Amino acid sequence: MLSVDEALQQVLARAKAKPPTLCPLGQTLGLVLAEDISSDVDSPPHDKSVVDGYAVIAADLAAGPAELEILEEVTAGAVPTRALARGSAIRIMTGAPIPSGADAVVMVEQTQSLNSRNPLGRVRIATQRVTPGQNIMRRAASMTRGDLVLRAGVTIRSVEIGVLAEVGRTEVRAVGRPTLAVLPTGNELVSPGETPAAGQIRNSNGPILLAAARTAGAVVVDLGIARDDRVQLRDLIARGLESDILVISGGVSAGVLDLVPGVLAELGVRQIFHKIQLKPGKPLWFGSLASAAGERFVFGLPGNPVSSLVCFELFVRPLIGRLAGCDNTALEELAAPLAIDYTHRGDRPTYHPARLSTIDNRTLIEPLRWRGSGDLRTLVEANALACFPPGERAFRAGETIRVLRLP
Ligand code: AMP
Ligand code: MG
Repeated sequence: MLSVDEALQQVLARAKAKPPTLCPLGQTLGLVLAEDISSDVDSPPHDKSVVDGYAVIAADLAAGPAELEILEEVTAGAVPTRALARGSAIRIMTGAPIPSGADAVVMVEQTQSLNSRNPLGRVRIATQRVTPGQNIMRRAASMTRGDLVLRAGVTIRSVEIGVLAEVGRTEVRAVGRPTLAVLPTGNELVSPGETPAAGQIRNSNGPILLAAARTAGAVVVDLGIARDDRVQLRDLIARGLESDILVISGGVSAGVLDLVPGVLAELGVRQIFHKIQLKPGKPLWFGSLASAAGERFVFGLPGNPVSSLVCFELFVRPLIGRLAGCDNTALEELAAPLAIDYTHRGDRPTYHPARLSTIDNRTLIEPLRWRGSGDLRTLVEANALACFPPGERAFRAGETIRVLRLP
């Protein structure tokens, strides 16, 4: 049986970033940029005031406070029509171009207008010191026309969208989002809106996996619930194979109705591994299918909701990231001291739901009281997985263990 690391290598071995597409700027959030971006402007486009106040000649105020004649008022979006001469000032608003002749701006809070009826007139500059250059942002201080401002490979966050807008890009080339179809299977499943009859439970995996895949950046397809029936499974799996990734839950263990691996084989999906050294998640099935539209990746996740979610985080999320063009999409790994004494017993490496919390600048990890793979409720309290090696061992509070932070 493969280890978790070996299995992840197998999952990523064939995964290549999707081809870039031209995307409208408003749809690029979270995508990986596929081209270098240069600026088509100087920013700022002119020497500009960074405060509301008066553009002045610093030498006029070398001896301390003075009165100056106001020549005009320049607001952002307007351009000065007058040049400053000694003894004069121009009222200026944040963002407006610095008039020629001016070499400093004094903020309005440090001035008194001497004519209340008319904004123009005279102004008293009350500050003791005016330094040449103060409150002026020079033309192109942020970027010069032609500068490389973003490199291909960065993930587009809101700030990158802002920079793209600043340099006039309404469309950019970005790696496309992978599509991912979700298919929960099981005769016992009813939809969340139904009251389960005897022997039935509600389908929680479907909604979990759709939501998790969306947060990981995939475009999701909900295939509904498949019964443990070869014909129906075949039909729905075939539809799922239209997506880059098909995530099936349930039906991959050793039960009499665990039909998924057989149906996948009938449809030509090649098994890459089945069963790994992992708790929860041992029955995990993974395979792929080469198709004209590109390689298809198929996961058969164990039906238990916690197993299914842990497998999603360990294997599906990194694959979505890789297809979306990200280099490193594995969960953040850290070492943290245990908050409590804890005895672990298990035949496989265990990824135990746990809570990371920081108290007095110390981050501690507390394994939660968890009733096993069917106990989804406890996972609500978890924000991490505590990793324990196989075997039996009593860990002491304060001992450092490996931890994966859940997104
Ligand atoms: P299986 O892997 O199909 O043997 O299912 C293992 C366990 O997970 C069983 O107790 C199932 O009832 C449960 N299970 C399977 N699918 C789901 C689902 N979509 N939502 C919640 N529980 C499920
Ligand atoms: Mg089942």
